[in-house]
Amino acid sequence: MPDRYLVVGHPVAHSKSPFIHAAFARQTGQSLSYDRLDLAPDDFESGLADFFALGGAGCNITVPYKERAAGFANRLTERAAFAGAVNTLWLGDEGLVGDNTDGVGLVRDLKRHLALRDRRVLLLGAGGAARGVLAPLLAEQPAQLVIANRSADKAAALAELAAGLGRVESCAYEALDGDFDLVINATSASLAGETLPLPEALFSQGGLAYDMMYGQAPTAFLRQAEQLGAAVRLDGLGMLVEQAAEAFRLWRGVQPDTAPVLLALRDSLG
Ligand code: NDP
Repeated sequence: MPDRYLVVGHPVAHSKSPFIHAAFARQTGQSLSYDRLDLAPDDFESGLADFFALGGAGCNITVPYKERAAGFANRLTERAAFAGAVNTLWLGDEGLVGDNTDGVGLVRDLKRHLALRDRRVLLLGAGGAARGVLAPLLAEQPAQLVIANRSADKAAALAELAAGLGRVESCAYEALDGDFDLVINATSASLAGETLPLPEALFSQGGLAYDMMYGQAPTAFLRQAEQLGAAVRLDGLGMLVEQAAEAFRLWRGVQPDTAPVLLALRDSLG
């Protein structure tokens, strides 16, 4: 019987992870199954325990359970411990291991378009997604990393948390000053079709706008970024495929080629 994997969330019917992992498995000749599992909040831990007790090999965790999965794992990798959230689980020698591949997924996708070293980077948002990508972003040694958030106190708390990893500043949107080579939207404002109160001169010449959200049409943030003069505008579909590739590598020991899978996924979105 092929090794069994899942993506667990609530809801999870929208998840593209089965499409991505099936494509990786075909490409690399790996025999595995990968399904969706919707667990109600009361059933999350027991549902996961049952899956692994019945021989499950690993799973991805999506909204709203990434923080709870960090509490459920027996051991966290360093990057998952910093993120306080887990999107990848597998059964290791010491029990369930929890990792977070979102940050490395974002950085790999970004690096296809821009070398991050010595760049001025602005991270919008201070929720779970922002925290998850902070350490891998700092590891690229940007010249400047500023976190801006609607609730400025949350941005300050996140900057404080990351203080040991590199120099991080924080502010409210209204206090943003100067221009940036890269502006990453890690808020969920685009989900509600809302723009952010950003200043006119936000992007440097050739500046890149990245929205972690994705969909068929350009997101509200990417439309706003176009008006603000961002030369390159990318949604988070590449991050989704790259975080999956890192999970696949951890589980199977094989690095899949992400470019054709990203193309196929974008085609499937229409
Ligand atoms: P959280 O709920 O943890 O955080 C939400 C953040 O968005 C907070 O900073 C919040 O600000 C801000 N926010 C929400 N609504 C507004 C608004 N109307 N105006 C301004 N700020 C707003 O969410 P997550 O961090 O988990 O997720 C954020 C986004 O990242 C989602 O769109 C998600 O889909 C995407 N994501 C994409 C991934 C990918 O693979 N491409 C992976 C992970 C996440 P405040 O603190 O002031 O409330």
